[in-house]
Amino acid sequence: MIYCDNAATTKMSRAAIDAMLPYFDTIYANPSSLHSAGQVAHEGLSEARETVADILGADFKEIYFTSGGSEADNQAILSAAAIGERKGKKHIISSAIEHHAVLHTLDRLRDRGFNITLLDAHEDGIVRIDELEKAIRPDTALVTVMYANNEIGTIQPIREIGCICREKGVIFHTDAVQAVGHIDVDVDRDNIDMLSLSAHKFHGPKGAGVLYAKKGIPLTNLIEGGAQERGKRAGTENLPAIAGMAAALKEAAENLDKNIPKITRMRDKLIEHLLEIPHTVLNGDIKNRLPGNINVCFEGIEGESLLLLLSRAGICASSGSACTSGALDPSHVLLAIGRPHEIAHGSLRLSLSEANTMDEVEIMATEISKVVEYLRGMSPVWRDLMEGKRSYVIQ
Ligand SMILES: *Cc1c(COP(=O)(O)O)cnc(C)c1O
Repeated sequence: MIYCDNAATTKMSRAAIDAMLPYFDTIYANPSSLHSAGQVAHEGLSEARETVADILGADFKEIYFTSGGSEADNQAILSAAAIGERKGKKHIISSAIEHHAVLHTLDRLRDRGFNITLLDAHEDGIVRIDELEKAIRPDTALVTVMYANNEIGTIQPIREIGCICREKGVIFHTDAVQAVGHIDVDVDRDNIDMLSLSAHKFHGPKGAGVLYAKKGIPLTNLIEGGAQERGKRAGTENLPAIAGMAAALKEAAENLDKNIPKITRMRDKLIEHLLEIPHTVLNGDIKNRLPGNINVCFEGIEGESLLLLLSRAGICASSGSACTSGALDPSHVLLAIGRPHEIAHGSLRLSLSEANTMDEVEIMATEISKVVEYLRGMSPVWRDLMEGKRSYVIQ
């Protein structure tokens, strides 16, 4: 099997598994317990917090452990909304290509009377700084723009966005779930006030994440109860997962310099091969792009059938986000960057990790090309295109 769906989730690293094991059967005490066993567990928790803080360029008091990226996104946005609301500010700026954890939270705020501006991501999948600047109003409470997109891999000008938000005194949150562990992220350098990350996107366990919130930003609880996480996220800490997350992040950060060029070379080779297939287009900017992301649309085919046939050939890929696949609606991201419905349906996302190889890239290129040709051979749409009864959207 060739696994090429790392944007959906990743295989856990050995280091992450090894870091977790002692917390199941040896260091199992509650980190809030005052006895010595509890203190040992608490030390493990603090160590993980220090590790994550160091890698992000944050202070350990600014790190809040959550159940994952979705919870961190929800808490960040609802916290900033509450801060804004107290000052009569009910305007939020985001982008049209955010993850649903952000977009659906914004929908809820819209129902509560918030005004939401979604920045255009343009055909290259990148928001424009001047458009952000124009969108900021005196009542803007929050700007939330993702660091890197989960479907098309585009990397946003985060440092510049953060800089403008600082100038204007607006809180800036970024969903960095696809970025952390894959490219260098530093909350200080990038002028980030709040950031979300998720362990299972960088070879850590599922169900663990972090909300970074800069000192002085009061958080709103999503979960009430005990005093864990400085009183901002109740519930006994998932210490095995937190330890696994810290170990995975440490390993990813230490290997960035080695992995980025390796993964980028495979990505570029695969893109080159796929674009040799006629009437195929790359989605998202080629330069400002995650090292492992490939997303293309093939004219005249259905993404779902493509995925099933690839799966039969032993290739695990995706048509977009895990939440979108399985549904018949085309991806909101592809529609937002201007792909028409019929093209957005024929999309394929391949997301590489350092565990993939150049041999796998060659196999995938061959298989995909075969499957696309086969599907086009059966497609009435493709026949119409060939016979000139319909014109190509992708030249
Ligand atoms: C995966 C993902 C999330 C959700 O993270 P979970 O830990 O699965 O809740 C949020 N945002 C982006 C960009 C993602 O890729």
